[in-house]
Amino acid sequence: MAQVQILIETSYLVEVDLITDQGLFRAGVPSGKSTGIHEAVELRDGDKCRYMGKDVSKAIHNVNKIIIPELLKKNFEASQQKEIDDFLIELDGTPNKSKLGANAILGVSLAVCKAGAAMRCIPLYRHIGDLAGIRDLIMPVPCFNVINGGSHAGNKLAIQEFMILPTGATSFQEAMKMGTEVYHHLKSIIKAKYGLDATAVGDEGGFAPGIQDAKDGFALLLNAIEKAGYKGKVDIAVDCAASEFFRDGKYDLDFKNPNSDKSKWLNAQQMTALYMDFVKKFNLVFIEDPFEQDDWNAWTNMTAQTDLEIIGDDLLVTNPARIQKAINRKACNSLLLKVNQIGTVTEAINAHNLAKQNGWGTLVSHRSGETEDTFISDLVVGLSTGHIKTGAPCRSERLAKYNQLLRIEEELGKDAKYAGRKFRKPL
Ligand SMILES: [Mg+2]
Repeated sequence: MAQVQILIETSYLVEVDLITDQGLFRAGVPSGKSTGIHEAVELRDGDKCRYMGKDVSKAIHNVNKIIIPELLKKNFEASQQKEIDDFLIELDGTPNKSKLGANAILGVSLAVCKAGAAMRCIPLYRHIGDLAGIRDLIMPVPCFNVINGGSHAGNKLAIQEFMILPTGATSFQEAMKMGTEVYHHLKSIIKAKYGLDATAVGDEGGFAPGIQDAKDGFALLLNAIEKAGYKGKVDIAVDCAASEFFRDGKYDLDFKNPNSDKSKWLNAQQMTALYMDFVKKFNLVFIEDPFEQDDWNAWTNMTAQTDLEIIGDDLLVTNPARIQKAINRKACNSLLLKVNQIGTVTEAINAHNLAKQNGWGTLVSHRSGETEDTFISDLVVGLSTGHIKTGAPCRSERLAKYNQLLRIEEELGKDAKYAGRKFRKPL
């Protein structure tokens, strides 16, 4: 890369500006609230007087004073994504990027990817597809998180995300229309039933009505889908984020109550039975993180019992070693892909390819703490993973991703194909 300069804004999240001969390429690094313990390390200063300990000045220092000076010595071109990512990994030298910080490394990796696409004079999604060896591009099914529970909401719901998937749409644009209409019908239903207060939104733009039983959440979704006129065209799915409600080897569905009744905590078998009941009654199309991140036997037992898409997020943390372990143990059949869990574009691509080679699906995901960066929209099209979750059709940092997908579909024109019901294996 000739003429490289990095500038960074300091704040709660890291942003990298990379300037090359082709212009300025900016990348924002997201952050998760319900993070897996096996994730790459996001470097935070820990100084309680600044951003309540969440400042990222160390990560920024590492970019400006360590990564960039060393990177410039190598004279890479921006299109050399793999070489640059390998160099960043080596420079850090730890298995979990704890020395320089995954947030520092990823900011550089994402900005390089954008600069690489510009250097090749092709759209970012096409560049990512080329890096991954994927030619056919598929528009994803958006998985809108419209009811929030778990650690993302102040209600008593244990399950973190209740999602709607417009699998019966014929294009991404139509899927956006369906999802948005269902979302607004849901808002009216919640307002009528629980009052205007209950329509305040959670971190990812979903509503957080004061319900505790997951069945009440599913009933609200089915009602909204029917009212919008999309029965049979919009499916539902959940992210349980079960590590958040795992207590002493059991699952506590009342985990936000400090005086929760221990006798009601469920073991893995009882949880499986509960999930299978949900699947039967509400036709769920996937379940993400049904169990705690190291409760391997529970995962394997459930995956053996169903053809449903079982997605590993906290279980896998987009880490190839954990994905391989899950493949060996048949613990799940789909990967949740979050670039900041692993820390470089190349490793994210490799994680997807490993999943795909083993017949798994891949769901590309945002984080609860997002920026207005839209990299993951290009990523999901470039890798053609068939589905993406980036919140409700609400809050600009979520809509930014959906808007970029609308632009990509428009740009692809007649070549745009929507994954629809084939979202698990679109190619
Ligand atoms: Mg999750």
